[in-house]
Amino acid sequence: MVAQKLAQGLCLWVFLASGSFAHAAASILDVRSWSNSEHTRYVLDLSGPAQAQISPDSTPGQVVVDLTDAGDTLPVSPVRPRGVVQHADLRNIAGHPRLILDVRAQVRPTLFALQKADHSGFRIVLDLVEEPPLAPSVPTSTPPKQPDLPVPSGTPLPSPSPVDQKPLAPEPTATSVPTDDTVHGRAVIIAIDAGHGGQDTGAIGPGRIYEKNVTLAIARDIKAIMEQMPGLHPVLTRNGDYFIPLAERREIARQHYHADIFISIHADASPGTDAVGASVFALSLKGANTATSRFARALAERENSADAVGGIHVSEHDGVLANVLADMVVEGSLEHSIWLGQDILHRISGFSPLHSHHVEQAGFAVLKEPGMVSLLVENGFITNLDEEHHLIEPQYQQKLAHAIVEGVDAYCRHYPLPGSWFAHEQEHAQEQAKHAENDRQHGSGA
Ligand SMILES: [Zn+2]
Repeated sequence: MVAQKLAQGLCLWVFLASGSFAHAAASILDVRSWSNSEHTRYVLDLSGPAQAQISPDSTPGQVVVDLTDAGDTLPVSPVRPRGVVQHADLRNIAGHPRLILDVRAQVRPTLFALQKADHSGFRIVLDLVEEPPLAPSVPTSTPPKQPDLPVPSGTPLPSPSPVDQKPLAPEPTATSVPTDDTVHGRAVIIAIDAGHGGQDTGAIGPGRIYEKNVTLAIARDIKAIMEQMPGLHPVLTRNGDYFIPLAERREIARQHYHADIFISIHADASPGTDAVGASVFALSLKGANTATSRFARALAERENSADAVGGIHVSEHDGVLANVLADMVVEGSLEHSIWLGQDILHRISGFSPLHSHHVEQAGFAVLKEPGMVSLLVENGFITNLDEEHHLIEPQYQQKLAHAIVEGVDAYCRHYPLPGSWFAHEQEHAQEQAKHAENDRQHGSGA
């Protein structure tokens, strides 16, 4: 029925690690999958780095992925069909594992690799995005707007993402940065993480409002506002109603988008309806089971349980967390996270009560990524009738989004990232001030 067409000879290579991996070939430990109405994702968990490729043997109606240097040990449990996939099979062919997915609609496959910060795990992610059916063949003189360009064999993995197809470079707008990064500095990349999604609804308000929908609305507002500002390049870790494990959110942000700043958006919940106000959290310095308050610990436990809701078994030891925290302290990203969090809190306090007036710290799984300034913002209590009502108002969502964007902008100006648009702006301003001072001294001496 639906015309099916996959670019022939599509051949994408994923290099999981640039270092040497001459040792034992990686084996596939597990294959997981999720789907929503237009997007199906398969994740292959591996014991080590491996190369993956969408095979040129892919035919219309079938996506074939080869792991060309992986070992022949396969997971015990079978790979299940999911979403657009009608039949799934994983077997060894010509000495390496091959994943064969029969699809019932035209799909655009994207393959990318993720590696855990502590190098303890490797993943290959295959995203299948359903393409709208081709229009019936009406004779037309103009070509389709976005023709399906075949990807030449051996082309490096492209950067488009599973959830956000925007290019990494900032788009030109009235006030936007010139695109020449070398002259004007690069944009700071901000990953906005809409909490929860799919089967993980997050907290549910007394009026049956789901946290996952509130968080996505605010995240999209933040992205839209940032896109109009110079020097900022926003990306979303999720842009639809589907589940993403916590570790994958930060890996998508760091490894796929190379984000500098990570902000996870949430709405709070409490057993009663009295609790009100926004709060901001950074990762705790002292380990997974310590937090700056009982409140912070309880919250971290609840947000961390998202993976259990999504059917993921998480086993991250305190030792791993300790290393991540050590890295963050050395880099100063924790100190910076707290600076940014405090600034955002101050801005939110202009129109909302605060649940806590200083940045709380706890062992949030979603924040455990060194190299990024990372925060979790609880935008108010969805369990409070008034705040639930506010949180679904588009105008109120915009207010929260503006507070967060302005905080990020202030942070980027206060601590300009070397090589960034903000650093360039600061140098430019300093030069101008120096010239002005020279002119003044010349003027007074004459
Ligand atoms: Zn949440």
